[in-house]
Amino acid sequence: MSFKTGQNYHGFKLVDARRVAEINSEAKLFVHEQSGARLLYLGNDDDNKVFSISFRTPPADSTGVPHIVEHSVLCGSRKFPIKEPFVELVKGSLNTFLNAMTFPDKTMYPVASRNEKDFRNLMDVYLDAVFYPLMLETPEILMQEGWHYELPDKAAELTYKGVVYNEMKGVFSSPDAILEHQIYAALFPDTTYGVESGGDPEYIPDLTQEQFIAFHQKYYHPANSYIFLYGDLDLDDNLKFLNEAYLKDFEAKKIDSAIPLQKPFAKTVVKVADYPVSPEESKKDKTFITLNIAAGKATEPEGYLGLMMLEHILLETPAAPLRKALLDAGLGKEVFGSYSKSILQPTMTFGVSGANPEQVTAFQETVQSTLAKLANEGLDPKLVESSVNIFEFHLREANYGNRPKGLVYNMKCLDSWLYDQDPLIHLAYEASLDKIKREAKNGYFEQLIKSCLLENSHQALVALQPNGEIGARQAAELKEKLAAYKEGLSEAEIKQLIHQTKVLKERQETPDAPEKLELIPLLELKDINKEVEELVTEKRTEQDVTVLLHPMFTNKIAYVNLYFSTGAVAEVELPYLFLLADILGKVDTGKYPYADLVKEVNIHTGGFNYDVLAYPGVADYESYAPMFRVKAKALVGKLPEMFGLIGDITGDSLFTDAGRLKELIREIKAVWDTAIFRRGQQVVASRLLSYVSPVAKFNENGQLTYYKFIAALEEDLDSNIQEIGRTLAAVAKTVFNRDNLLAGITCESEDYKNFAQSFPVLTGKLGTKPYKPAKHYFDIQARNEGLMTSGKVQYVAKGANFRRLGYNYHGSMKVLETILRYDYLWNRIRVQGGAYGAFAQFDRSGNVVFGSYRDPNLEETIKVYDETARYLNNFTAENISKREMTKYIIGTISSMDTPLTPQMKGERADTAYIRNISQADLQQERDEILATKQQDIKELAALVDDVMKANYLCVMGGEQKIKASQALFGELVTVID
Ligand SMILES: [Zn+2]
Repeated sequence: MSFKTGQNYHGFKLVDARRVAEINSEAKLFVHEQSGARLLYLGNDDDNKVFSISFRTPPADSTGVPHIVEHSVLCGSRKFPIKEPFVELVKGSLNTFLNAMTFPDKTMYPVASRNEKDFRNLMDVYLDAVFYPLMLETPEILMQEGWHYELPDKAAELTYKGVVYNEMKGVFSSPDAILEHQIYAALFPDTTYGVESGGDPEYIPDLTQEQFIAFHQKYYHPANSYIFLYGDLDLDDNLKFLNEAYLKDFEAKKIDSAIPLQKPFAKTVVKVADYPVSPEESKKDKTFITLNIAAGKATEPEGYLGLMMLEHILLETPAAPLRKALLDAGLGKEVFGSYSKSILQPTMTFGVSGANPEQVTAFQETVQSTLAKLANEGLDPKLVESSVNIFEFHLREANYGNRPKGLVYNMKCLDSWLYDQDPLIHLAYEASLDKIKREAKNGYFEQLIKSCLLENSHQALVALQPNGEIGARQAAELKEKLAAYKEGLSEAEIKQLIHQTKVLKERQETPDAPEKLELIPLLELKDINKEVEELVTEKRTEQDVTVLLHPMFTNKIAYVNLYFSTGAVAEVELPYLFLLADILGKVDTGKYPYADLVKEVNIHTGGFNYDVLAYPGVADYESYAPMFRVKAKALVGKLPEMFGLIGDITGDSLFTDAGRLKELIREIKAVWDTAIFRRGQQVVASRLLSYVSPVAKFNENGQLTYYKFIAALEEDLDSNIQEIGRTLAAVAKTVFNRDNLLAGITCESEDYKNFAQSFPVLTGKLGTKPYKPAKHYFDIQARNEGLMTSGKVQYVAKGANFRRLGYNYHGSMKVLETILRYDYLWNRIRVQGGAYGAFAQFDRSGNVVFGSYRDPNLEETIKVYDETARYLNNFTAENISKREMTKYIIGTISSMDTPLTPQMKGERADTAYIRNISQADLQQERDEILATKQQDIKELAALVDDVMKANYLCVMGGEQKIKASQALFGELVTVID
């Protein structure tokens, strides 16, 4: 049907209708007159439909109330009165996206699905949740999701527990999170951006039940909402549903959720804060220094795009002038920056890590003088062109990985819509882009530096320095505070706390009644596609190289993956392989100095990526295919330039510039120092599997082993740098050969000729040395390490290789993953244990890992893993209905059927080829999943039991916590020296 501006449709008045050519979309903006709700529909030819409802939720303090409400509305509602409808949907819907997100000033509830019936179900559950949540009358919900006093018995120690409380303790264990919090606090002392919307663990326990309810009552009303619909859906029918099922029951009212502007400062604010490190850890070169500037406004589209590009020009490439100036001045080891959008007053950050506190002033002066010099003398035109080009490539490509496109558009709309402006200004980017491209030659960016960065005193200089005492001090103070609180309680109050703890525990342990669970709508197995999606691969040969062509529509972009087998690299040199991936493209080549190289890459292509990974064998699970992978993309017409550059980088990189190599190694070390705790889940899973499997042992060389390797290199760079350079050159020579190359290309069939014609540009530059595989004598043994950090939560992993234990892979294991993740581990480790989450993963190669993240516990979690078999033995026909099984199967299929971009499809097909997994194997796995019965799950108890009894264990976490469980570990390792 056709919609007319000014007309009313089911209570929605159409106020604006426009075509947005940039995203090929018909946009319609409505107001629901009775309730005051706003609604934006983007009509696109995309079956991955998106719905979301967002509210403007500016917090006034750091208790994390918006974040806790976000968790809590999903804990049951009027029509769906069960403990966690959200979890039921994850278990058993065909969603392609389902989540809720808290931002500094808004809370979003988005869902996506390709199935119409499913889409409506998801909308219904989410709308009921936000408007009629049970949290309003159930105090246990704040206790569980937010915080509560935990007191199991009179003699026990009183503690705080809660999902968000622990989640944020985990977040605040990484220095980058503390730094970000300090930056916003310094820059916006008088507005909502100065407080922590996620919650600062120190203040979370200040939140009362009354404040919690009041926050929901104030902000969760249609008049304060932003409803979004996207995709090829029936708009009229959806408007009708929204009106009749929800909005007709609300009357518009005035809600004060406006976000005031921070009054600019007269002069730069300076702030130095601390972050905890282990007492023994060195404090040298561990300070972060940043200069932060409130620059531009989210509601000004051209400046918003221009400042994003400016940040890229100044900082993001090895050719970037501000990056270079800071490194040349010896200020820190790593330079980072960002232009953070999605707040009314976006912020430009320039920073260094790996610095020292006495360098704060020098840092500020270097930034200021470099900016002034660039503004006066002008930026390098080629650099500007290259940055603008790479931005344009990504804007037009609109490749958002496995996130639904509609969701990304939704977020861009909110960047202006939330502040009462036209929601389409950032999506309709053509005019801004055009102007920037035109004006770039006439000093556009230089002017931006002047007006937004130099002549702007709304700045904060924020430094974060390591402190070996505060971690222990904060822990002691918290212990004291809680002990004193307990001391001050009367007998009756103590009894009350014990009672509350018990009531909460009972609620958590009591399953929902089956008739209530059945209120959550469920699809049937017949709604699911029985056939696995076909991976299309046409095998060709070019220049004696096997080429896998995946023909599909890509909008004239060619996605090329080059796989160089690294089987000839000696065991001792494996960490160098990972180092090579980190520095390639950032050192000089025979043809270009590194700064020019990156400009060429950004002018002609969509960028290159390098990584190393070993693919596990399937037939022989002890075997693996180790690869150095070059990922590249470019417009089809640019393939000759692209292959020329890749040939130059792989065949002719020079590792002789000692100064540059040192700079890069220091930078890698600094990045790991900051990120290692955040990567905890990956680090422990990889480390654990390296105790049982050669392929995992290989890949672990890119994790903790790599970090330790880089740290050791950095200790004595001066005397070893020549040798490091020689080794890198030797490794590169061994790897980049035509004989061990496999290529994957995703593009339209008719464009393949461009690939075939330009491929020799690359192969001509590669060696053709005969391939001699190196033997790897990996030391595979249960080291069971405890990895000690200053973190406040743990990552606990246990696992084994089930094929070594005599079992075979079966599709039912995928269903078991869903069951464990969203039922057993969810209840025991998240709901009862207070961790952020836990999962189990089974691979065809036999590798299986159970892992928890941001977990306050350690031994209790291991006990939960060990008791999995007991849970599975109770997975009987009496306990598990057919409906439950259907739900788990649908949830499993939905996680496997997430829509993929052309690039991801091509990569998945490459992986299947390398691992020798056929279409028939994939269909068999799908058939097995669809046919899984309760009995099949129960029968996996023996396998899981054997896995746990094999007793391979790895934990990363707080030093005290690990030492307290020392007996469990074979070795204790200090992560950061
Ligand atoms: Zn959360």
